[in-house]
Amino acid sequence: MKFSELGLSQKVLMAVEAAGYQQPTPIQEQAIPPALQGRDILGIAQTGTGKTAAFTLPMLCQLEQGRARARVPRTLILEPTRELAAQVEEAFTKYGVNHKLNVALLIGGVSFADQETKIMRGADVLIATPGRLLDFFDRGKLLLTGIEVLVIDEADRMLDMGFIPDIERVCKLVPFTRQTLFFSATMPSEITRLTEAFLHNPVRVEVARASSTASTIRQAMVASHGHAEKRDTLRNLIRSAENLKNAIIFCNRKRDVAILHRSLEKHGFSAGALHGDMDQMARMASLDAFKNGDVSLLVCSDVAARGLDIPDVSHVFNFDVPTHSEDYVHRIGRTGRAGRSGVAITLVTPDDKKYVDQIESLIGKEVEWEGPGLSELPPPRETSRAGDRRSADRGSRRGEKGGRSRSKSAAVQERDDRPAPSGPARRSPEPATLITARRNPEVEPARTAARPHVYSDRRDRRPRNQEDDGPPVIGLGDHVPSFLLRPVVFKTAKAGDE
Ligand code: AMP
Repeated sequence: MKFSELGLSQKVLMAVEAAGYQQPTPIQEQAIPPALQGRDILGIAQTGTGKTAAFTLPMLCQLEQGRARARVPRTLILEPTRELAAQVEEAFTKYGVNHKLNVALLIGGVSFADQETKIMRGADVLIATPGRLLDFFDRGKLLLTGIEVLVIDEADRMLDMGFIPDIERVCKLVPFTRQTLFFSATMPSEITRLTEAFLHNPVRVEVARASSTASTIRQAMVASHGHAEKRDTLRNLIRSAENLKNAIIFCNRKRDVAILHRSLEKHGFSAGALHGDMDQMARMASLDAFKNGDVSLLVCSDVAARGLDIPDVSHVFNFDVPTHSEDYVHRIGRTGRAGRSGVAITLVTPDDKKYVDQIESLIGKEVEWEGPGLSELPPPRETSRAGDRRSADRGSRRGEKGGRSRSKSAAVQERDDRPAPSGPARRSPEPATLITARRNPEVEPARTAARPHVYSDRRDRRPRNQEDDGPPVIGLGDHVPSFLLRPVVFKTAKAGDE
């Protein structure tokens, strides 16, 4: 099918042609004609399917008639994260080049005053995160009574983020007669309930189940032990990866995003970070730096990265196995997009076995192991440098032979753990050259600005040369001698004892 057969206006068709799209994607093909007729749409699709254009293009046609009034926006798009909202704004800029539209973005972390000016001017399109939208509404800064089209995007992510009560409230504030375009990658029961309550006889369009992974992605698992060793394993994987152009690296926790980001930078890799605790400017700066190629690696948490459209990512690394198997599908869907090939490698520790089983059962296939599997994994190596130093000393005291036998394993480890030298020497000639930190004067201030947010944990106070020793050990860490774990039995004093 051609775009010209979908019923889109001439202005929109010209923009689509300028964007270089040859033919509509399945979701566009199925959703655009009924959306143009004013029908409600229930789109079950993930990012990467072209769903943004599936709702943006018919909206642009609708907006060709009429104009916005001050404080009364005409259409509203709800997005779970600021990045997604900003991405949709970009889509309006791209597809709306032939339209003179006022597009306003209401997201947290940006000054109220600028946003208010845009609303006052009259917004044809209002793109918002639920919290900031309701904040504006409650301050009496905007009215939702003029909304003709309401888009709820990434509804399942809204659910994960606790936005459903806000969404319900917004649905009650907009006119009953509006058109609703609703998108979700999955349909848990809470989302189904929401669609039953707020969609009117929707056309259901389902393009790919959230459990399917693209065949263009080569998936692999790599067994490793806890965090410090995983960082080591990851570095080796990055260095040895073939055709690695850029990579997104996922961690389960924000705190680990910060630790891994810092560690990669320390080892001379060109890396940015993206997680929910960073302020808006820092998040945008990281994302832009990655999109522009100023950094090659982006360390992310799920919430921050969900749905981001970063075309042409060659590799995805799961530093942690996701504990929700659907997140695995979303994560690895960052690569191998639009028919391109991609690689997704997941680091797995013995504790992750049950999550791997859940992932394999969701995607309906086994993921191959690269290197030894969990059962053949050698015991964890000693991670403490003091330990390494002690064994090195022992080796040299034992004489030539012992010293040499140490030199093999310890030297390999030292080479891998050694931070890259600073200055021009950071540009190493090995495959990591591509990834070695590039200093971009325009990006640098923003990255520096991100630091207080990225590195806000207590480890900041430690000297830099200790930063890569893994999370601080509390008490005896995992190595509590078993005699300390035995219950303590107190003898009761008998009368006469003394
Ligand atoms: P989305 O699922 O909306 O995040 O879109 C994923 C990517 O597909 C974006 O980079 C779009 O620019 C691109 N895209 C959207 N529609 C088409 C199309 N019909 N042909 C080729 N690429 C498209």
